Amino acid sequence: MKQGKLIVLSAPSGSGKTTLVKYLLHKEELHLDFSISAASRDARGTEVQGKDYYFLSLREFKDKIKADEFLEWEEVYRDNFYGTLKSEVQRIWDKGKHVIFDIDVVGGLDIKRIYPDRTLAIFVKPPSIEELKIRLKKRKTESEDKINMRVAKASTELATAPQFDAIVTNDELEKAKVEVYQLVKKFILG
Ligand code: 5GP
Repeated sequence: MKQGKLIVLSAPSGSGKTTLVKYLLHKEELHLDFSISAASRDARGTEVQGKDYYFLSLREFKDKIKADEFLEWEEVYRDNFYGTLKSEVQRIWDKGKHVIFDIDVVGGLDIKRIYPDRTLAIFVKPPSIEELKIRLKKRKTESEDKINMRVAKASTELATAPQFDAIVTNDELEKAKVEVYQLVKKFILG
């Protein structure tokens, strides 16, 4: 079985990790491809089936858990399951590419545990909880309650940072881009 490497970027929401993942995907010399997660929720807004997520019904998701088709999965919110299919990682490796994940800290650390030597797990840290709050407010996509919930979750997530291979603080986006690029390049190209 052909195997490549795995790059995990995990962070509390509002840390700018999605921007960093997109930046890395544009670097052709890294040969990265994005791991599309499976989710048991409906598509939102402009989300596309098979591009943003593999949207499954709750029944389909649970059947795949039983059939041991997931590398990792999690019930992130009640009845909202998210996970990485083993077939997704293999699909990317079969193309001769390395896998990059944009998932939460629990899923990210699961991947690291399953493939300790093949995985580079990077924790993207917001400069401070205060700054995180400001960024989430600027997005204007969520209510005050939801923002407070995410900020509370972020504090617990921040405590897991030492378990990652590297921590990149995203106080200046351009600087963070260079830092993650150097880390990933060294891990992939040696
Ligand atoms: P959303 O519904 O906002 O797209 O995602 C909700 C949460 O699920 C986010 O915290 C996201 O990081 C997490 N998530 C997305 N895909 C996966 C996955 O494959 N595995 C795990 N463990 N979490 C995921």
